[in-house]
Amino acid sequence: MSDWIPDITKLQRLDDDEWLKVEREYAGRLYHYVARRVTDREARHDVLQETLLGAVRGIGSFDPTYTFEQYVFGICHNRTVDWMRRRRIDTLQSETDEDEPSPIERLATSSETPSQVVRRAEFSENARRLLALLLREWVQETWGQGEFVRLMVIEALFFGGWRNKDTWKRFGLNDETSVAGIKVRALVRIRELAQERPEAAELFLALSRLTQAGEANFDFDVSEVWRASRASCPARVWLARSLAGTLPAGPKGFVDFHLDEMRCEFCRANVEDLRTRSSEELDSMHERARASTLGFLRSRGGSA
Ligand SMILES: [Zn+2]
Repeated sequence: MSDWIPDITKLQRLDDDEWLKVEREYAGRLYHYVARRVTDREARHDVLQETLLGAVRGIGSFDPTYTFEQYVFGICHNRTVDWMRRRRIDTLQSETDEDEPSPIERLATSSETPSQVVRRAEFSENARRLLALLLREWVQETWGQGEFVRLMVIEALFFGGWRNKDTWKRFGLNDETSVAGIKVRALVRIRELAQERPEAAELFLALSRLTQAGEANFDFDVSEVWRASRASCPARVWLARSLAGTLPAGPKGFVDFHLDEMRCEFCRANVEDLRTRSSEELDSMHERARASTLGFLRSRGGSA
């Protein structure tokens, strides 16, 4: 076993490769730690996953007086203790319950947090509008960084509604934890983008509360806003370039995925329309795109 040490700066930049290395290097030893205390096999994986996701959430305030290993084992310890505490409450509860628990009781004892139950009320109209802006900002940034796998994974989850276990197989990732990790890193980055906008203070607080409580809590809201705002739909010129066969491999992979696997009906309709256009029209569209500063995914409002 090598004593590889991750680059904290890269981790704080939410670099996918560095985090995937962390998962590979640390999952084994963390699992053994968890297994000594958690008897339920399935729960071990949950605790391990919560540990790795907790490491992503907390990395922004990493204290360099500790090593990364101390940091991640500290989180692992806390998650393990949480699990044991929850289990004790569940056991006591089931011993004292004679009848079926009422919905309120079930609510109180289930592992769902209150924020999951009231999640639909979390975002005001204003917050949803800002979230739509931030999702697009994140998509454009990710596109600009050439991180197309990350983009496709997040699109599969929020736009396609894919499950983690289908997603990791499609993209050849380590396992479900890798997918969960990519998702949490995306949400952490979106929260950072919210923090940079003073008008998004309300949204930032909601995102902070929800990402701390657990990454699944507001999937529904993000998915809904993602779909409604068409956050990942490529600008028309990218669709035209895809038709013309002039896209580089990375963008082409994404555009194909969006059309063929996400089966985005808007973009498919756009492609159908583009097929009917003359080559002169398409050429002039490419010229306009080259002349503008449009390097990104999407230009709303322009004719291209
Ligand atoms: Zn689309």
